[in-house]
Amino acid sequence: MYLGIDVGGTNLVAGLVDREGTLKHKASCPVDRSWTAEELTLQLARLSIRAAQEGGCPLEEVEAAGAGLPGLVDSGAGVVIKTPNMPFRDTPFRELFQRELNVPVYLGNDADCAAAGEYWAGAAKGCDPVLVITLGTGIGGGLVKGGKLYTGLGGAGLEVGHIVTHPEGERCGCGNLGCWERYGSATALIQQTKAAMEQHSDSALWSACGGVLENVEGRTPFLAAQQGDPTALQVLEQYRRELSYGLVSLCNVLFPEVVCLGGGVSSADESLLLAPLRELVHRGCFDKDHLPKVVRASLGNDAGVVGAAMLCQMA
Ligand SMILES: [Zn+2]
Repeated sequence: MYLGIDVGGTNLVAGLVDREGTLKHKASCPVDRSWTAEELTLQLARLSIRAAQEGGCPLEEVEAAGAGLPGLVDSGAGVVIKTPNMPFRDTPFRELFQRELNVPVYLGNDADCAAAGEYWAGAAKGCDPVLVITLGTGIGGGLVKGGKLYTGLGGAGLEVGHIVTHPEGERCGCGNLGCWERYGSATALIQQTKAAMEQHSDSALWSACGGVLENVEGRTPFLAAQQGDPTALQVLEQYRRELSYGLVSLCNVLFPEVVCLGGGVSSADESLLLAPLRELVHRGCFDKDHLPKVVRASLGNDAGVVGAAMLCQMA
């Protein structure tokens, strides 16, 4: 049995997960903002012990623990280098954790966990190489090749969101111009939807968000498009094109067997997102004899915990 730990800014979740990636039990607790990095790590270890005990697993049967964090980690050294909105800074996570529970500890960022989870227990099971792309505030990416996570020289993983798709484009938070995530993230889709609404006061997009621009969410354009709204359909057509730019580039470098798309946006109606996107990606792929499957990530709500646990099988 493994323990999978999903470290979020507001909530901590630890889960007891078997080798097949089935979640047996989970325990959670809110984050106390006053905790130091050391206290936070010890709390995670205690929460993990609780998840094992409540799940009926004696601690000596826990083989290893994996923790997924939204930030930069050095899994080899067992150190959390930094995370936004959390106190970790060069924190010796493994050493602290093992004071409470002495098992091997593996660390990964969110994107690595998503890739590990889909590879062992999700939509990418049986495939290799596997590329997992998560559409959220930005665009995250994780790659499994030869059964291992590829995390690059510094171990930070793939920063696929910063592929440049518009060299003269908008400024990204990273400082470069025209990064893919400025056009293809869920945040970008929301911005594109709002911009279209301002130009089309008669669009069904307005009723899809209760007439309030601030209420636009990632699913808003999909809701309006289902009713056949031409503005929404246009927004989505352009959005799929933006997504395809990055995906085609990645596929022509990595030649994955499968590309899994995750994040809230990916749960949209197949006919409005995945099916036409798959066609665009395949059209751009260089090797027509080895086209990647383009599918929805399948782990959903428990992806964080299951993916973190599956880091233990990536070592
Ligand atoms: Zn960027």
